[in-house]
Amino acid sequence: MKFGGTSMAGTERIRRVANIVRKQAAGGNEVAVVVSAMAGETDRLVNFCREANALYDPAEYDVVVASGEQVTSGLLALTLQSLGCKARSWLGWQLPVRTIEAHAKARVDSIDGEALGKSMAAGEIAVIPGFQGVSEDGRITTMGRGGSDTSAVAVAAAVNADRCDIYTDVDGVYTTDPRIVAKARKLKAVTYEEMLELASVGAKVLQTRSVGLAMKEGVRVQVLSSFVGDDAVPADELPGTMIVSEEEMDELVEKGEVERQHVTGIAHDKNEAKIILTRVPDKPGSVAHIFEPLAQASINVDMIIQNVGRDKGETDVTFTVPQADLARAQALLEDKRDEIGYNRLITDSKIAKISVVGVGMKSHAGVASTMFQALADRGINIQAITTSEIKVSVLIDEDETELAVRVLHTAYGLDAADEAA
Ligand code: ADP
Ligand code: ASP
Ligand code: MG
Repeated sequence: MKFGGTSMAGTERIRRVANIVRKQAAGGNEVAVVVSAMAGETDRLVNFCREANALYDPAEYDVVVASGEQVTSGLLALTLQSLGCKARSWLGWQLPVRTIEAHAKARVDSIDGEALGKSMAAGEIAVIPGFQGVSEDGRITTMGRGGSDTSAVAVAAAVNADRCDIYTDVDGVYTTDPRIVAKARKLKAVTYEEMLELASVGAKVLQTRSVGLAMKEGVRVQVLSSFVGDDAVPADELPGTMIVSEEEMDELVEKGEVERQHVTGIAHDKNEAKIILTRVPDKPGSVAHIFEPLAQASINVDMIIQNVGRDKGETDVTFTVPQADLARAQALLEDKRDEIGYNRLITDSKIAKISVVGVGMKSHAGVASTMFQALADRGINIQAITTSEIKVSVLIDEDETELAVRVLHTAYGLDAADEAA
C-alpha cells in the first residue's frame, strides 16, 4: 500500500490512512506500506537547498529532501501503534533499498526482501519511507520527484506482493486529469504500455519509472483513493484502476467489462521549453554538433524538428528540453555557437505539450488528423509534432493548454456524457 503526499498531510489524514491499513491487515493480509512526505514538504525542502546554495551538491540535497518521508513514516508507525497494531518503520538504509546512478535521480537496483518478509510474517506492519534509498557508498539517495510510486512497486516486487495499491487523492486513472476536465472518465483498467506513455507525457498520477518497473517485474498495480468513508468498496474488490497486461486487457474487453477506444487518454506537460537555432548549416554533422554537448550534460531533448532547408544550404532546428535545464542548455549552445554555426538562438518557455495516447492507434488510422483538425477548429496553432506507435504529441502555446485538452477530450468521444448517451 502506498500513500501519496495529500493523503499524508497532517495528523488527521495520517489517522485515516492508518485506519485503511489496519483494515487491510485485519483482513488477514501481510502488509507493507510506503509513504510520501506531507504535501508541499518536498517543495519546501528543495527551496531550502536552493537558498542555501544555488549550485547545490546533489548528495547533500538528498540528505535534506529525504527527510520529509522519514517524518511521515515514523508518524504512520506511531499512529498504527496507537490503534493497537504492531508497526515498524524501515528507512532506506535499513532495508536497505540499494540504488545506483546519480544522486537526486537514483534508480532502484535491489531491495533485500528477506528481513522485510520476516517482519511482515511476524505480524508487523512495515512502514517504509518512499523516495529514498542508499548509494553504493552508503549515502542517502532520492529517486526523482514522484519517486515514492517507484519505491512502492520495488517493495512489492521484492516481497512478491499480490498487489501494489497506490492510494492517492483521485479514485483512479482518468481519461485525462480530472482537475482540468470535469467530464473526464475513470478507467477500469489501462495497459502498462499506455500508462507508461501517459506518465511519460505528463499524467503525474504515477511516476513513469514506477510503471516501467511494474511492467518489467509483473507487479499488479491498482490506483485508488485514500479519501473514502468507512462504507467504501474494499481495495480487494478493485474499486480503482488496474494497470494490466495487453492479454488481461483483451480478456476484459471480451467479457464486455471494458470498451476499447482508439484513444485511451490525454495528458499535458507544461514543464518543457523550446529552443530554436536559426540558419544552421544544412550539412552532415550539424545536428550532431548541437545535441552532443546537451547529451554530455545529461540534458534530455524531447521533440526535435529540422525545418526544410532554406536557400544557401541553411536550415532552422527547433527542439524542446525540460524547463529546469533551459538555462544550462542555452549557456552550452552559446558556448558552441561558432562550432555549430547558427545565427540566432531563440527560447520560449511558455509552451505546453499535449499528447493523446492509446494502443488502438496501432490498428486505427486517423487519430492524428482528428487531433490536428480539432485544434485547428479552435484556432490553436501547432508548433511541433511527434508521434510514436501509440502516441501523438503536439507543442502549443501554454495559455491554450486547458482549452486544447478539453477540445480533444470531446473530439475523441471521451467525455463522460457521451457514455451515458
Ligand atoms: P500523490 O501525492 O498521491 O502521489 P500526485 O499529485 O502525484 O499524487 O498524483 C495525483 C494527481 O494526478 C491527481 O490529483 C490529478 O490531478 C493528477 N492527474 C493527472 N493526470 C491524471 C489522470 N489521467 N488520471 C488521474 N489523475 C491524474
Ligand atoms: N515526496 C517526493 C516528491 O514530492 C516523492 C513522492 O511524493 O513521491 O517528489
Ligand atoms: Mg505522486
